[in-house]
Amino acid sequence: MSNLWWLVLLLLALAAVLLALSARKRKRSGLPDAETVYADTDLWQPLPRVLLDEDLGLVGKPDYVIRTRQGSLIPVEVKTGHSPAQPYDSHRLQLAAYGRLIASNFEQSPKYGLLHYPEKDFQIEFTPQLQGELIETLARIRQIEKGRKAPARSHAVPARCASCGYRGICDQKLT
Ligand code: SF4
Repeated sequence: MSNLWWLVLLLLALAAVLLALSARKRKRSGLPDAETVYADTDLWQPLPRVLLDEDLGLVGKPDYVIRTRQGSLIPVEVKTGHSPAQPYDSHRLQLAAYGRLIASNFEQSPKYGLLHYPEKDFQIEFTPQLQGELIETLARIRQIEKGRKAPARSHAVPARCASCGYRGICDQKLT
């Protein structure tokens, strides 16, 4: 066999391996089988832009935004660690914030989002009640920022403090 054929075979084998690796990575990420239109990763693309909602003063980057076969955009948030029996409120609100960011940046309002935990997935409907909770929470955060006083801790779970981004400045942490 000529060198050219060996090269072609080698490239085909390489393509097959890359395809298998990408399929495995996608399966692990928990993404449904749909087109990915936004991904907060620089593994196969330059890092995507930060999404902004000027009205609510929200900025953020969803883990993924997918487009279903019907053309609907859906935010997907991938969580690691413990899979809770019910999604945490903070995760529901985070997903609702991404729904809002998609509405402001892609001119389409998602009806729901997906929370993917290692052993469970939840479909979170973006109901008017959840949208209201998001707006109320943002207003409370602004009030707290103005008052410069940390709110009382609302849980007794040391593991949450252990992985919290505010533990360096929080005077109520449990670990
Ligand atoms: S470190 Fe503070 S802010 Fe973070 S989870 Fe614990 S109590 Fe809450």
